[in-house]
Amino acid sequence: MSVAGPILQVAVPSPLRRLFDYLPPTGADPGLLLPGIRVQVPFGRTRPVGVLVAVAAASEVPPGRLRRALALLDRTPVVPPVLLELAAWAAGYYHHPPGEVLQTLLPVLLRQGAEARVGGVPCWRLTAAGRAVAPEGLTRAPRQAELLRRLGEAAGGELTPDDLPEATDWRAVLRTLVDKGWVERGERPCLEAAAVGRDTPPALNPAQSAAVAAVGEAAGRFQPLLLDGVTGSGKTEVYLQAIATALAAGRQALVLVPEIGLTPQTVARFRRRFAVPLAVLHSGLGERERLCAWLAAGRGEAPIVIGTRSAVFTPLARPGLIIVDEEHDASFKQQEGFRYSARDLALVRGRLERVPVVLGSATPSLESLRNAGEGRYRRLVLPERAGAALHPRFRLLDIRAAALDEGLSPPLLAAMGGHLDAGGQVLLFLNRRGFAPTLICHGCGWVAECRRCDARLTLHARAGRLRCHHCGAEQPVPRQCPACGGLDLRPLGQGTERVEEGLGRHFPGVGVVRVDRDSTRRKGAMERLIDGVQAGASRILVGTQMLAKGHHFPGVTLVGILDVDGGLFSADFRAGERMAQLIIQVAGRAGRADRPGEVVIQTRQPDHPLLIDLIEGGYDRFARAALAERAAAGLPPYTSLALVRAEAPGGMARPLAFLESVAERARALALAGVQVLGPVSAPMERRAGRYRAQLLLIAPRRADLHALLGPLALELEGMQSGRAVRWSLDVDPLET
Ligand code: ADP
Ligand code: ZN
Ligand code: ZN
Repeated sequence: MSVAGPILQVAVPSPLRRLFDYLPPTGADPGLLLPGIRVQVPFGRTRPVGVLVAVAAASEVPPGRLRRALALLDRTPVVPPVLLELAAWAAGYYHHPPGEVLQTLLPVLLRQGAEARVGGVPCWRLTAAGRAVAPEGLTRAPRQAELLRRLGEAAGGELTPDDLPEATDWRAVLRTLVDKGWVERGERPCLEAAAVGRDTPPALNPAQSAAVAAVGEAAGRFQPLLLDGVTGSGKTEVYLQAIATALAAGRQALVLVPEIGLTPQTVARFRRRFAVPLAVLHSGLGERERLCAWLAAGRGEAPIVIGTRSAVFTPLARPGLIIVDEEHDASFKQQEGFRYSARDLALVRGRLERVPVVLGSATPSLESLRNAGEGRYRRLVLPERAGAALHPRFRLLDIRAAALDEGLSPPLLAAMGGHLDAGGQVLLFLNRRGFAPTLICHGCGWVAECRRCDARLTLHARAGRLRCHHCGAEQPVPRQCPACGGLDLRPLGQGTERVEEGLGRHFPGVGVVRVDRDSTRRKGAMERLIDGVQAGASRILVGTQMLAKGHHFPGVTLVGILDVDGGLFSADFRAGERMAQLIIQVAGRAGRADRPGEVVIQTRQPDHPLLIDLIEGGYDRFARAALAERAAAGLPPYTSLALVRAEAPGGMARPLAFLESVAERARALALAGVQVLGPVSAPMERRAGRYRAQLLLIAPRRADLHALLGPLALELEGMQSGRAVRWSLDVDPLET
């Protein structure tokens, strides 16, 4: 027997791969039962906020067990039909619970049931009377003093609820300050203000014109385009002019950028060009601001939406164009929970919205190159740097027999001296922060290791701490060897901090700037460091991959890459691709028209074929060779992968037992053509005290893999051995 409709099919946040049926709330107007509205439902003993996905005529749930929804939270859908479709597609492709997919899609405040209202973000600012008060004088009211001080220092003179510490009952304090007439309440608009001045677009070179025209021709239909052009070749200019065309046609543009690429400089460039409000969605945004920008985009009030990974889920009233800048960047893949690729979802969204999707990169992913090679994407090449700047010259430095000084070989030091004397700047790239990756006892060979991970602790000399870069554990640097009591503990190997220190000795008075996660932790620190370099106050830059994106250093004439060997010998088959991309991206930061750059790469593998391909033939030749290797080895993009991961505290036994049973089920279900490899322990077996194992599924044909994953994922939910571990399914994993 079944219950007759209307039945609400609701995506409820839960780890189960299904929708849940509910009766409408008592007295609900049937006209308001629109897919895309939020519904509060009873679920076990909780009352979560779900999303109404569909309304059915009947339910298979026995009448006695069918529960009634508690309330409809919206009068109009917050999730438009196209995003419901995108979410359904993603839940199917990633074999992820639809409730969790929709949770990811919604801004946090909407997940929590807040009203979907476009409005300014409430904020507080000092009145004239408030500005006249000296906070130090308020010794009897320390919290009032604290707020006055914060308001005095706040950017724009305003604080929003997101800026305030959660622990204090600051609302009461603010009320007191408002009552005293020292503080007033206001509303801050959530969109970046419309530009005042416009810059004039440059005349495009022929390759750029062809690219802009190709995007324009694709208007109104789905067409993926791969914009392949070295750094400085004018890709961003192509985006800007293609966006201008879309805006002129009354359409909106969605621009996705890597996490590290959404800098004030990037936003400023858009703002200088377009006299329209921008919706900027980045990770530092307060929740109210995010909600406001999200809703404004959905109502078409923001012609340009620019954001990182999750911005792919921003609703658009009049979509016209989607751009994914630096499409190869790993930050487009979410690495936990719902493991989606924003780049790939941007393409699906483009298909659903019938708009062109531009993927841009100086170093396209092998996946995208193959898609272009097989004609699925239209490839647009910008072969030259805009303004005809010269390409940098590459040189491999064999350091096998070199006497390194803090990681720097004599020929590199000599080259640095030459460039500095000639008035140039130098950029050194080392993808390892801290002072040294290892602390070792010279007496007995003891090494400082993390207690919770299979990893060594990194020495951070300036902070006087040993830190684990995998779990965040830290401790003071011991004075004595815990094993033998010896006092001769020595740092082994180089991190950016140590190189910075060594450079200070070699080039006194030149000004060295270090750019890594440690030196840029404070807000605005990155901008200050970069400004110092661009103004010429600092002439040597040393840093991690944070230097590889977003910034251009026209004064840099020499780029030194201190250690590429790690990338050539990793167990991960993507390591070579990543290393090549980093080298090209870092090299691309340097030089300008009148000063061709030089790139020096230190290596102990001067004959490595991938390195030779890269420096002699550029990224193109490297990519062709790497693709041939992948094809021969049966790896992506020529096969499809999925990884089942499992972890548990206490030991490998439970993760392995669970994955053994998964492997058994997979083999039983598998069609011919899906290979089941493992389980094996993860590359880092133990992390943060948890033991980790994985099972790899490979199929030459994507469809075969998904035909297996569908039923397998449902079986995993019910497996007894799965209760004892934390497991996840990663489709198209970036890290294997
Ligand atoms: P990319 O995004 O490929 O790194 P950009 O679009 O940032 O390249 O261009 C690099 C530099 O060249 C920028 O300063 C940009 O203003 C300038 N530029 C781009 N296209 C042109 C052009 N057609 N004429 C003159 N300058 C250009
Ligand atoms: Zn010792
Ligand atoms: Zn650790």
